[in-house]
Amino acid sequence: MKSIKLKLKSFPVWVFLATLLVITSIWLIIDITIPKIPILGFHSIVDTKKLAGKNNNQNFPKIDYTKGDFGEVLDYLVKHNFWFISSQELYDYFIFNSRKIPSEHIGQRPIMLTFDDSYKTFYTDLLPVLESIANKYNQKVKVVLFINPGRMANHESKTSYNITCNNLREGLEKGFFDIQSHGENHKKLTDLNTKDLIYELETAQLQLRKCTAGLDPNQTVASHLAYPYGASNPRVEKFAARYYKSAYLYNSRFFWQGWLKNKYQIPRLTVNHQKAPKGLIYVAEKALKIKGE
Ligand SMILES: [Zn+2]
Repeated sequence: MKSIKLKLKSFPVWVFLATLLVITSIWLIIDITIPKIPILGFHSIVDTKKLAGKNNNQNFPKIDYTKGDFGEVLDYLVKHNFWFISSQELYDYFIFNSRKIPSEHIGQRPIMLTFDDSYKTFYTDLLPVLESIANKYNQKVKVVLFINPGRMANHESKTSYNITCNNLREGLEKGFFDIQSHGENHKKLTDLNTKDLIYELETAQLQLRKCTAGLDPNQTVASHLAYPYGASNPRVEKFAARYYKSAYLYNSRFFWQGWLKNKYQIPRLTVNHQKAPKGLIYVAEKALKIKGE
């Protein structure tokens, strides 16, 4: 009698552990076998040497990343043969598969580096890192900037935190910036009425294309969108589709190749300065390798 009771008592624990084991195993198999593209979502790049209170590395917003750490990550990725894809390349090669991947990318691992908002540091700190890597390895790394044109500075100012149109033009002309839309004024699109929603989507595209006029013959600028705060719903997606070919979330998920059901819900991995270079490199290492035929 006692042993029957014991068996009954231990039964749920046994079932629980077995279920847990099965779920973990399935998850591990999925994690290992599904080809992934890391799409990293950064914000401002901060040079800690320029900060007041130089000893305090934590004295800036959590979502920012340090220039030193970013340089370290980038150096590793370039040395290890990563392919820095643009928003249009993700769309053409990995969402629609409408174009054949050029043979020069065989053996490489695709990754996308994205930067949100209209920070001046994209010009003062990010661009110099990209240029220094280009000089060192003779390779241009392309980064995707999701910009709010309504928050850009009208003219150069040493005290402004916002990027100018000329700054963007320079990075685009040099071949480092892929300039895309983050809405006109960084409004939470899910909260807006139809008129305001259309304004945010349409004006951002017009302004960014006006800013880059003459430098973008294939009209790659402002063809893709990242929702401010990652906030979206079917209604926002419907209007986004009027102006943009695809749109990005900010949801700490990997892009699983072949599994994307909706091109207006492209996942991105969130980055903050508490994620040390080692952590980001670990994530990057999960990228699929392009195979030859
Ligand atoms: Zn934002």
